[in-house]
Amino acid sequence: MRTRVGVHVSLEQYLRLKHEIKEGRDVSQEMTKAVFLDRDGVLNELVYYKDGHVGSPITARQLVVYPRAAESINKIHSAGYEAIVISNQPGVAKKQFSNAELLRMNGKIKRALSKEGAFLDGEYYCLHHPRALIKKYRVDCDCRKPKPGLILRAAKERDLDLAKSFFVGDALTDVQAGKAAGCKTVLIGQMTDLLNRMMEKHNAVPDFMIGSLAEIGEIL
Ligand SMILES: [Mg+2]
Ligand SMILES: [Zn+2]
Repeated sequence: MRTRVGVHVSLEQYLRLKHEIKEGRDVSQEMTKAVFLDRDGVLNELVYYKDGHVGSPITARQLVVYPRAAESINKIHSAGYEAIVISNQPGVAKKQFSNAELLRMNGKIKRALSKEGAFLDGEYYCLHHPRALIKKYRVDCDCRKPKPGLILRAAKERDLDLAKSFFVGDALTDVQAGKAAGCKTVLIGQMTDLLNRMMEKHNAVPDFMIGSLAEIGEIL
């Protein structure tokens, strides 16, 4: 890490240093491993819309961070993993919300985490959608899950050992992306006969299944 006197240290950098000092861990020796986290349905609740569908929040006001999200991220760090968000956010492309609103949503999550000393080591968002209303986002990209592009980019930028890393999500596309990147996969949800058949059909059987992110400590 480059440090210069008088350089502003971000809240994330400060919390990371504080955490490493507290843990007394020298992380410079080992190759870094990560727990990649989907955002919606993992760190924050999904929204039940009036038309009956369940989906991602489209305003920061709607977004509710899970009460045990910070505790879970702290557990991830204590177990020696980075915590990195990997999320499809096609809402801007579909004109459901602005870029500023996306930043407000992500800011709300990070503020909630920081209240308990938790932080994200990285955030990677795919803003593309094949049927985007905004032309610059109408791309058949390699970063929209189930494709592993964002995970691979994060691994390259942060020198991560993917085989020792986990991908945690609440959708089969998360499992598919995690598998394609060579990570161990964790699906959040309840097993049902239908889900079991869907997993097998889509070649998306996760390595682990948990009820919520709060159980992640049992796996790491
Ligand atoms: Mg999700
Ligand atoms: Zn993309």
